[in-house]
Amino acid sequence: MAEKEKLVPWSFTRRDVGTDDVQIAIDWSGICHSDIHTGRNEWGEINFPLVPGHEIVGRVTAVGGNVSRFAVGQRVGVGVYVDSCRTCENCLAGMSNYCREGMTGTFDALERDGKSITKGGYSNGIVVDQGYVVSVADSLDPAATAPLMCAGITLYSPLKEWGAGPGKKVGIIGLGGLGHMGVKFASALGAQVTVFSHSESKRADALGMGADDFIVTTDGKVFETHKKQFDLIINTVSAPIDLNDYLELIALDGTLVMVGLAPEPYPIKAFSMLAQRRRIAGSMIGPVGQLQEMLDFAARHNIGSDIEVIKAEEINEAWDRVVDSDVRYRFVIDASSF
Ligand code: NAP
Ligand code: ZN
Repeated sequence: MAEKEKLVPWSFTRRDVGTDDVQIAIDWSGICHSDIHTGRNEWGEINFPLVPGHEIVGRVTAVGGNVSRFAVGQRVGVGVYVDSCRTCENCLAGMSNYCREGMTGTFDALERDGKSITKGGYSNGIVVDQGYVVSVADSLDPAATAPLMCAGITLYSPLKEWGAGPGKKVGIIGLGGLGHMGVKFASALGAQVTVFSHSESKRADALGMGADDFIVTTDGKVFETHKKQFDLIINTVSAPIDLNDYLELIALDGTLVMVGLAPEPYPIKAFSMLAQRRRIAGSMIGPVGQLQEMLDFAARHNIGSDIEVIKAEEINEAWDRVVDSDVRYRFVIDASSF
């Protein structure tokens, strides 16, 4: 897409396959709300022309001389980042998503060569260093797996970090692309799951995905009746909400984890935090190693995203529908239409 316009077809070429590279023919590409925040300039400076997309599933078409883990024809995935410094303590500890120099995003990021700008998954193919590619089991539905590459890992990672499991009460705020994956993973991990949503029409879907309870938040009274109950609440909402309402729902030493990226700051009352010694934390996608662990977990538990498949020419309309919370629950682009 060019500046302040709708997305339009654009031709470009990828780099040649280097010794550590995997060349991938993209089959499926998910639409994340981050594509829209970026494309609509809500997060500041961006580089045009922009090729969004960081939920990629495809097949290997060529590999470099040093690549032995991937072979031509294999089904693979690429998520939100395609490089990192590889030398800082976080990278060396297997947490390259938290690279101290900053990870290199799959789109709209300056490559480590200091010149090129990454171009993402709304395209036919991509060339990625093998260290940032994961294997996708043949038993997984490839289209329904694309959203796991961002939405899935963004919820799986904090659920694991904060111990979601049997005996834990987990709340998920917002049943969108991220939120619905959170419900599926938290439920499969054995936690008791409550969805907080501003869309009554999503109730049956949430319960069908494994939620134990569904609370519509449009009537503020609901916050009075669920105080001090939750061990972990994950906020996936893309717009500003009153976090103090949700802090009050958290039990002693519980945590509110921020993954939704509303562009504006949130006002927090100190009183909402110090009662029950509550914590607010953030979490950003997850490391490549955990992405592979999540895909293997998804294969074992038969977890995929609920998707609506679209063609390239429908992306602009799909973006509007995502902003209107009108997607059940992730758009995935059939990349053969690019
Ligand atoms: P999405 O599909 O649009 O889902 C967001 C959900 O938030 C909606 O389905 C809706 O759920 C709720 N919502 C939207 N507008 C609202 C409003 N005005 N008031 C109350 N609730 C509202 O978006 P997504 O792709 O899941 O992404 C969610 C956010 O996470 C975005 O900001 C995205 O940039 C961010 N993100 C963060 C990371 C990370 O690493 N931390 C990774 C990916 C994305 P209900 O209808 O159920 O209320
Ligand atoms: Zn994303």
